[in-house]
Amino acid sequence: MMQSLTLDQLLSLLHAEIQVSDKNVLISEIAIDSRNILQPENTLFVALKGAKFDGHDFIPEVIEQGVKSFLVREDFDLTQTYLGHANLIKVKNTLKALQELAAYQRSNFKGPLVGITGSNGKTIVKEWLGQVLSQKFAVAKSPKSYNSQVGVPLSIFGIEPGHQVAVMEAGISKPNEMESLASMLMPELGIFTNIGTAHEEGFESMQHKLEEKAKLFVYCNYIIFRKEHFLIADYLKKTFPSDSLIAWSDNIGSDYSLTVKKEEQSSKLIMMRPDLSIFTFHVPFSDEASLENIRHVITAALTLGMEEQTIQEGLKHLKAIDMRLTLKPGANESLIIDDTYNNDLAGLRLALDFMAAQRPKKRKVLIISDLLQVGNTNQVYSEVGRLLEFFGIDYLIAVGEDIQILKGELPIKQDFFASTEELLQNLNIDAFDNDLILVTGARKYGFESVVNRLQQRIHGTTLEINLNALTHNYNFYKTRVNPKTKIMVMVKAFAYGGGASEIANHLQQLKADYLAVAYTDEGVALREEGIRLPIMVLNPVQESFIHLKEHHLEPVVYSPEFFKELAKYCESQQTQMKVHLDLDTGMHRLGFEESHVDELIGLIKTNPQLEIASLYTHLAGADESEHEDYTREQFQAFDQMCGKIMGNLNYSPIRHALNSAGIAKYPEHQYDMVRLGIGLYGVEVTGKYDQHLKPISTLKTTISQIKNLKKGQTIGYSRKGVMQEDGQIATIALGYADGYDRRFSNGKGFVLINGKKAPVIGNVCMDMTMIDVSGLNVKEGDEVIIYGPGISLKELAERIGTIPYELLTNISSRVKRVYYLD
Ligand SMILES: *Cc1c(COP(=O)(O)O)cnc(C)c1O
Repeated sequence: MMQSLTLDQLLSLLHAEIQVSDKNVLISEIAIDSRNILQPENTLFVALKGAKFDGHDFIPEVIEQGVKSFLVREDFDLTQTYLGHANLIKVKNTLKALQELAAYQRSNFKGPLVGITGSNGKTIVKEWLGQVLSQKFAVAKSPKSYNSQVGVPLSIFGIEPGHQVAVMEAGISKPNEMESLASMLMPELGIFTNIGTAHEEGFESMQHKLEEKAKLFVYCNYIIFRKEHFLIADYLKKTFPSDSLIAWSDNIGSDYSLTVKKEEQSSKLIMMRPDLSIFTFHVPFSDEASLENIRHVITAALTLGMEEQTIQEGLKHLKAIDMRLTLKPGANESLIIDDTYNNDLAGLRLALDFMAAQRPKKRKVLIISDLLQVGNTNQVYSEVGRLLEFFGIDYLIAVGEDIQILKGELPIKQDFFASTEELLQNLNIDAFDNDLILVTGARKYGFESVVNRLQQRIHGTTLEINLNALTHNYNFYKTRVNPKTKIMVMVKAFAYGGGASEIANHLQQLKADYLAVAYTDEGVALREEGIRLPIMVLNPVQESFIHLKEHHLEPVVYSPEFFKELAKYCESQQTQMKVHLDLDTGMHRLGFEESHVDELIGLIKTNPQLEIASLYTHLAGADESEHEDYTREQFQAFDQMCGKIMGNLNYSPIRHALNSAGIAKYPEHQYDMVRLGIGLYGVEVTGKYDQHLKPISTLKTTISQIKNLKKGQTIGYSRKGVMQEDGQIATIALGYADGYDRRFSNGKGFVLINGKKAPVIGNVCMDMTMIDVSGLNVKEGDEVIIYGPGISLKELAERIGTIPYELLTNISSRVKRVYYLD
């Protein structure tokens, strides 16, 4: 909630024009999304134009919800129906105006604001610093990783009157973005976490990237950095007044020296004070990244005037943060949304939003602890109550003291517990059946144990799917085709191994135009999971006609015989069906051939019960340059066949030919629709846009056991693995039954452990594989990445003479799929 503004105040702030219907509104909420507007009459809806959506398109819908005020582009006008029902505040650029509003809100906040930037660790430093500072201050912090041009203003609107310190992160992906973030945030204290070597598009060099990020600090009184990050240190020294720079280091000779002594699972940080006295912090981490982040946190907390003892109190509770909202399969067909990190209203809102976007289940269950939120308990929980009502929660399970205030307030099933232990004692998983369960609680409630209890299986191997990366890849392909061109997404074969229902649901959110599956069963399963998009079925069989009809699935028809059978069925059922005609122009798999066209036209004319939704062909070699001529002949043949068929039709079916590789190489042949497959899943087979896609899935497992072996000892079946020197092997919980190809045996494959490559040694077994980890310093329980960021699927596939498609689709269904937003 922000400080309320009248329309007049808004106008003078934004120097905007207005078209008024009701001048007496007071704005206290900002919304950019039509789906989560709680107090419509006090909301200003800001219409932003994104890569995929234009907020202006949603205005009628938002007016229907009762919103009265809109920030819109100057050339926007309402249609007749809505004229006079809204205040339109017209500006050149709605994003800029949103940022100006944020800058104004920021100027009303008098406490210090900490601004954090850098390549890695921003979010963790923000979260940890927020937690440590909350030992003494009421802290506002940006939710999750809201650090972009839109995220920063939204974070600023979250600063409330009671807050004493604000901690916000700022992230950029292009030059000239930081200026606007800096002038909104105006941080007094800045933290530069580090600078990564990864090449980023848009920046000429690492130095360039560094200089752009450092623009966050132009208004800072103090800037914190690590002295050993030499590039950063040099540049800051050159650019900012020396009395504003606060350097910390492992060694003496900087403003704060914080030397590390590592122990098994924890570390000591020994700080030398200016008077040479010593204070020792104990922290529950021993990995380098965490130790660096923590030293930023300590330095910032000291700079803000906190006592060492109080800081130590805060450090005790820190845990490695999994900030991600994850979606996991639960017992009895339930789905669990794991948000066990969350602890404030802003986070709760995000989690409920994510919940609302999932496919429908029987009930919406919320398991929640007391919030760590400043402010009046009454106000905070009446807001929680409103949220529960708004998001239609059916069953509330609450843990803690403050939250008891909600008892009896809502007409829904509810259970209250004093502690997590009491909840666990009373938690019976058979009380849940096909429910959607959101588990969200402050750290100290340890709700991980609740999630563990509700999970379906805890087999060590998981396939994690990053839904944000999926969105990114989808939007990338969107930019490759004309705005009018439709996108059909291939979710056959369990969505290339990723899990069809979750991915289809996400594509439905993204407003994909069509889905395609291989078999009728796959389509039926999607319908049963609440997927409403049109679905094409590539390979239907006669026995499935009734299911096609009942579930509104659209079959591919590929021969005159099949056409006749289906037409007969539809006639006997007196039903109409949409069908897609596969035209064989050279793939020679399924499809009508040139010689069938005349007969086909006759069939179409005499069987109007089959409506031709589309005409398509499939390319045999779109990804390989050597087949370019052949591909062009395929387009020619397609044009000819389509021309002939359409000349005999009084309506125009959609035409489509391109798969992912085709979109990359032959965009001029996109026709009316494209069929996106492997590219969505993060593999760009032509290599042309490799840099633009993000891997969406990570297959990971853990080390079950470590063995020290002597030179000459053998490993596994047939004694194929032989130690070349004395060394160490690790047995991991994954084998060919999980979909780890047996051809990866004997060094053909490798995995990543703690970021380091380790080869397979010996033969891959059914449920286990042995890895040579000599010299790598790993331990039992360590995480092992099989496929994912840092491992190229194309390279792995080549090593065993196959293609990435096979690796993706082979991952066994016994591997648990987990979905997250990062
Ligand atoms: C699988 C398939 C696609 C998608 O191919 P990708 O190479 O994964 O993009 C497109 N069209 C048809 C007919 C398919 O069977």
